[in-house]
Amino acid sequence: MIQLRNITKRYESGQEALSRINLKVDAGAMAFLTGHSGAGKSTLLKLIALIERPTRGQLMVNGAELTQMKPRQVPYFRRQIGIIFQDHHLLRDRTVFDNVALPLLIQGYSRQEIGRRVRAALDRVGLLHKEQAAPITLSTGEQQRVGIARAVVHKPAILLADEPTGNLDPELSRDIMSLFLQFNELGTTVLVASHDLDLIQTLGKPVLQLANGSLQQSVVAD
Ligand code: ADP
Ligand code: ADP
Repeated sequence: MIQLRNITKRYESGQEALSRINLKVDAGAMAFLTGHSGAGKSTLLKLIALIERPTRGQLMVNGAELTQMKPRQVPYFRRQIGIIFQDHHLLRDRTVFDNVALPLLIQGYSRQEIGRRVRAALDRVGLLHKEQAAPITLSTGEQQRVGIARAVVHKPAILLADEPTGNLDPELSRDIMSLFLQFNELGTTVLVASHDLDLIQTLGKPVLQLANGSLQQSVVAD
């Protein structure tokens, strides 16, 4: 479960990106986050992933109060989260397999377990046959799917995506969004920031609207 209470985020520049946000997303639920460029979508996801810290307010994620969390606890907290960016940040000099394996290597899994999990994740996104490919030889949509495999390879409870279809045409965008719907079906809590209203309104999930750092709707039930 994700719960924000009166969350305000002001960057050091003085820019107030989020103002007194209240939001509750049930475990296992899925929602889209939309709004104009600069509305605060990325900031909201970064607070939930503890990439940024709130200026004021309370933020509970999976039973932990993030504002109380000590820096040394952050890596353990992050294991519950999978995150996907518009620009997938793949390592160019590593194979698809090695890119997806990276989070598991960091977490100290055995070679055998890494092999099994990486292949399971690549299978989910339909790219098992590309495990030895270099990322640059893949299409943009395939590269994004590798990013998704890497984000889910450790089976996170929460999946966050920031404009995951920003560089894709409408058909590929729909494919990517249906992958997120599938992970949600498996029980993962999913929050996707996207300004592609035409697409996200057809997917049958709540659409949260951010405008100038404020949010209207505040509850997403499973
Ligand atoms: P969105 O994802 O909806 O485009 P962002 O969360 O990226 O919105 O940005 C919200 C506001 O916060 C914008 O005014 C943006 O310029 C500002 N902002 C975002 N990141 C930073 C930062 N690191 N430092 C200062 N201001 C920032
Ligand atoms: P296994 O549990 O044996 O690893 P599964 O077939 O259950 O294999 O899952 C295949 C892959 O799909 C997993 O490695 C993981 O990447 C992803 N996956 C499965 N279930 C979930 C889930 N609930 N949340 C996130 N990712 C998942």
